[in-house]
Amino acid sequence: MSNSSTLAQLEQKNSFVRRHIGPGEQEIQAMLETIGASSLDDLMSQTVPAGIELDKPLEVGEGATEVDALAELKAVAQKNTINRSFIGMGYYDTHVPNVILRNVLENPGWYTAYTPYQPEIAQGRLEAILNFQQLTIDLTGLELASASLLDEGTAAAEAMSLSKRVSKNKKANLYFIADDVHPQTRDVVATRAEMFGFGIVTGPAEEAAEHDVFGALLQYPSTTGEISDIRGVIAAVQAKKGIVSVAADLMSLVLLESPGELGADVALGSAQRFGVPMGYGGPHAAFFATRDSYKRSLPGRIIGVSKDSRGNQALRMALQTREQHIRREKANSNICTAQVLLANMASFYAVYHGPQGLKTIAERIHRFTSILATGLTQKGLALKHNTWFDTLTVQVEDKEAVLKAGYEAGINLRSDLEGAVGVSLDETTTRGDVLTLLNVLLGDGHGLKVEDLDAEVTTQDKNGIPADLMRTSDILTHEVFNKYHSETEMLRYIKSLENKDLALNHSMISLGSCTMKLNATAEMIPVTWPEFGQLHPFAPVNQAAGYQEMISELSEWLINITGYDALSMQPNSGAQGEYAGLLAIQRYHESRGEGHRNVCLIPSSAHGTNPASAQMVSLKVVVVNCDKNGNVDLDDLRKKAQEVGDNLSCAMITYPSTHGVYEETIREICDIVHDHGGQVYMDGANMNAQVGITSPGFIGSDVSHLNLHKTFCIPHGGGGPGMGPIGVKSHLAPFLPNHSVVNIDDAGKDCGAVSAAPWGSASILPISYMYIKMMGSAGLRKATEVAILNANYIAKSLEGHFDVLYKGRNGRVAHECIIDLRPLKEASGVSELDIAKRLIDYGFHSPTMSFPVAGTLMVEPTESESQYELDRFVNAMISIREEVAKVESGEWDGENNPLHHAPHTLADICDSDWGRNYDRMLAAYPAPEVHRNKFWPSVNRIDDVYGDRNLMCSCPAIDTYRDE
Ligand SMILES: *Cc1c(COP(=O)(O)O)cnc(C)c1O
Repeated sequence: MSNSSTLAQLEQKNSFVRRHIGPGEQEIQAMLETIGASSLDDLMSQTVPAGIELDKPLEVGEGATEVDALAELKAVAQKNTINRSFIGMGYYDTHVPNVILRNVLENPGWYTAYTPYQPEIAQGRLEAILNFQQLTIDLTGLELASASLLDEGTAAAEAMSLSKRVSKNKKANLYFIADDVHPQTRDVVATRAEMFGFGIVTGPAEEAAEHDVFGALLQYPSTTGEISDIRGVIAAVQAKKGIVSVAADLMSLVLLESPGELGADVALGSAQRFGVPMGYGGPHAAFFATRDSYKRSLPGRIIGVSKDSRGNQALRMALQTREQHIRREKANSNICTAQVLLANMASFYAVYHGPQGLKTIAERIHRFTSILATGLTQKGLALKHNTWFDTLTVQVEDKEAVLKAGYEAGINLRSDLEGAVGVSLDETTTRGDVLTLLNVLLGDGHGLKVEDLDAEVTTQDKNGIPADLMRTSDILTHEVFNKYHSETEMLRYIKSLENKDLALNHSMISLGSCTMKLNATAEMIPVTWPEFGQLHPFAPVNQAAGYQEMISELSEWLINITGYDALSMQPNSGAQGEYAGLLAIQRYHESRGEGHRNVCLIPSSAHGTNPASAQMVSLKVVVVNCDKNGNVDLDDLRKKAQEVGDNLSCAMITYPSTHGVYEETIREICDIVHDHGGQVYMDGANMNAQVGITSPGFIGSDVSHLNLHKTFCIPHGGGGPGMGPIGVKSHLAPFLPNHSVVNIDDAGKDCGAVSAAPWGSASILPISYMYIKMMGSAGLRKATEVAILNANYIAKSLEGHFDVLYKGRNGRVAHECIIDLRPLKEASGVSELDIAKRLIDYGFHSPTMSFPVAGTLMVEPTESESQYELDRFVNAMISIREEVAKVESGEWDGENNPLHHAPHTLADICDSDWGRNYDRMLAAYPAPEVHRNKFWPSVNRIDDVYGDRNLMCSCPAIDTYRDE
């Protein structure tokens, strides 16, 4: 062995960068040779426009090893103080069942999957989400539920938008929010209302019908814990054609009459306490349910039941034409990334506990609350309400002293009420906790015993739930909630679903624009540390020193990477970042007396969330054309900017464009917009082609969101969670979102919140933190270079077989490329859908289909894929091209061919009446590599039209399975 390497060299060879980046040095050299570049630097200078290359390297430090980074972050995490939390306000401690913790939350089979756009290889998570919808339907008593929204606050804002769409009180422009709704929810809804131009009226819930409103929002039980009969108010508002939405607590609904039975039109809330840690604010799934008649107005995704080509039941996303990809600025909402992983966890929690188990949990929480109420009132303390489920508002003389006594005893009470503290109990509450609470609230020496109080609750028949609001209807009667209550059964159920889904632990998922890169284990490990999991988002900031340190360091790094001056961590998805950024732009214009600026220019190639977000701040969308090379048509941009004149608010530009090339004219684009007084919003979804090479701030834009779940390694979770922080130039910093419960130091003074939690989904930020920490400045740049290399390698390798639609300078693509399948379809009748489904037979998830150009596939391999995996994909594509040729030449029948029938299931192959004039082997094992690692789709191609015509979004009755 040679002794010539220095310690530093040896350490570098063994760095995390080598693990994150797929190709090793030899492969990189070989690939460079294939595409005709001498080095990565050479490739960069061929690809990236000269004027936009950064003049200095990133400054995020040197890459750390996995061991060191984990140790350092652990030390930071330990600066958090984990008190027992009784704050409530929509966030409660919970026991994540260990079988779910390890086999779902910590399992790449679940967390690395993509949004189920290819349902044949996503039936597992589709079933789990359908269970979530059924859980929502059962507990809310409404007819139709969605597959998750981002948080309770934004779900309430969506309810307001839905109310405006469906209310028959068309003239009304006012929305009512009861004053006993959680403060952060009121904040998020008010922010949303402001830009829509809706007026907000706040007052006691009973007064809702006294105003001429298109809708009203109530909280049940109220934020201070009261359970009141809202039937009368609901009916009164509805009599005046208003839509009533009820924000509800999911656990309380196990025991309470459901909002649907009380007459509500919409029910929403957070499913956090169903086995998802508080995590300093998120991520958690929000639930949302409404009447069947409003189904076309429902925000977010819905999972529906359909059938496959063999006539078997199969699940897929329903009514997709409501969403931004199709309807753009007319879409119901801008929700794209939602909270699928967390919705799955909540649904598994319900499956595991079942209706009886949930009832036991809810009754125990309620019992402890009754015990506490009995003890406190016995000793002369006054409660604000004489009803409760889990929350008491206790009137105290010296609030500060009580809070302080609590902190000294290691507990947090709700602190924002006047002359009172709030106490919310949860599943994790113990007898010891209740005793501590009595001690803190009454002082030592009260002499009460939990067991005695328990007996008194029985003898006095003390119940916090009014008799006429006790639930009488059954919940969770479907078989799935009554079958898997032993850990063995549960483990197997989770595994059986996981087996149906193709995720990154099987093969490359080269989804253009979605950046499905490695989600390293070392990045994921801190997510489930209790130091990050158990913190309440409204805990005193001095208890969150670890979080604050991690967040501010990550913010500094992201500011350096983006070239901006300030950053907000609040938006909890890319699309929410767009909304927050546009909000900042509009507030900026208003601050300069230019609030009339109301037009947003968006190129035709933009992602659907761009126009959908513009609509949320009441901007008029004007589409700018692209030229034949896929670039923004500068003449058209100039013309439209001119026409709009001083009504121009902004332009939303994606860079590199979704066409996969670095536009040479990007600086000019920014100048044109600025010259007309507009701001430039640069959609940061494609930051994977910028990090370390260029930056939005350096190019000249004013604000961007980052999809931390794309460029910065947060896994996609099967359709969420994500994080969409925004970076801004200094002039926009005073307009960043703040929060009404927790003041954010460097945010705007009078700016409302865009998310329920002050720092969004804080508990997944350690993933991006670890990534940057382990990659370091040089590693991050190299990741970008190899992402570009990999995309160019694919483009080059497919040359002669497929056309790459757009290329930039020197015939190079950026980090993704669009493969044009339209000529093939023309010649052979084989569609992009056939090719996407045939890829499943080869063991691959299809690249992004028909975005941004119909009839194409957009391939983004990312830096994490090795040359071996890229070759496997290229070979599969070439082999498919040869299959298409056989259809073209007439050798294969136009319908009876493996492309048309793809994907092939075991049911096909085992069918004694195969009836195809091609070989079974060719159908299922079309390439030699497939033998090594065959993935069987669990259903055949799914009929979307049937599912939308026969919409069914709940768990099918058991006999419909038996019919098969
Ligand atoms: C993913 C994406 C978005 C939306 O981000 P979400 O996090 O899904 O809300 C916006 N623009 C582009 C170009 C994207 O690829």
